[in-house]
Amino acid sequence: MDLSLIRKNISNSFNCFLDLLYPNLCIACEGRTHGREELFCLSCQYQVHPTYMEQLKENEFTQHFKGRIPIVAGASLYYYSKGSKVQKALELLKYRGEYEIGIRIGQHFGKLLKSIEAFQNLDYIIPVPLHPKRKIQRGYNQSAQFAKGLSDSLACPYREDILIRTKETITQTTKNRIERNQNIQSAFQLKRPDLIKGSYVLLVDDILTTGATLESCALTLQQTEQVAISMATIAITS
Ligand SMILES: [Zn+2]
Repeated sequence: MDLSLIRKNISNSFNCFLDLLYPNLCIACEGRTHGREELFCLSCQYQVHPTYMEQLKENEFTQHFKGRIPIVAGASLYYYSKGSKVQKALELLKYRGEYEIGIRIGQHFGKLLKSIEAFQNLDYIIPVPLHPKRKIQRGYNQSAQFAKGLSDSLACPYREDILIRTKETITQTTKNRIERNQNIQSAFQLKRPDLIKGSYVLLVDDILTTGATLESCALTLQQTEQVAISMATIAITS
């Protein structure tokens, strides 16, 4: 038996042992996954829809921002729909204290983005900030957890001190797009322009719906000179 096979066997046995001690759980239903790297159990996996859009330079994500704000690249990991397993996972991440879900999704997406040229040579990963009051209530920023996971896989630092939220956004469902944009404008503030001047940043959020939040964050980042921006989210509404 050659050495690599022995090593592989040891690593497999070790993973089985780890599985017994700490089973890897599905991020939507907490059932067991069939591998340590998997996010969903087999049953949930059949019901989620990865977008694979990171593989295309022009995609639904970049299309969303065309004519609004220039971005180098953009991608969401999954399609989002009501009642879906992705909605369930995001709900656990946002409202049930399951912050590790954000880290695990980020690590997984980071592995996919690592091989894509447009997502290489990043200087910082910046999460869409929560208002400090909301962060205290929730205990963490779900987008920062996603950023943390991405940071592990992409070997690029994530920073929560570059962009901050100064205004709490009120519910936006009754407003049209222009009103929503006005509402969210100036909700963010650039704290460390010195850090991002001339850099390439990845702006990340949990979900892309209207794009107003990401657009407003990107505009705030662009208050400094020569900053190139790409964007990534866990999900996109289809
Ligand atoms: Zn499941």
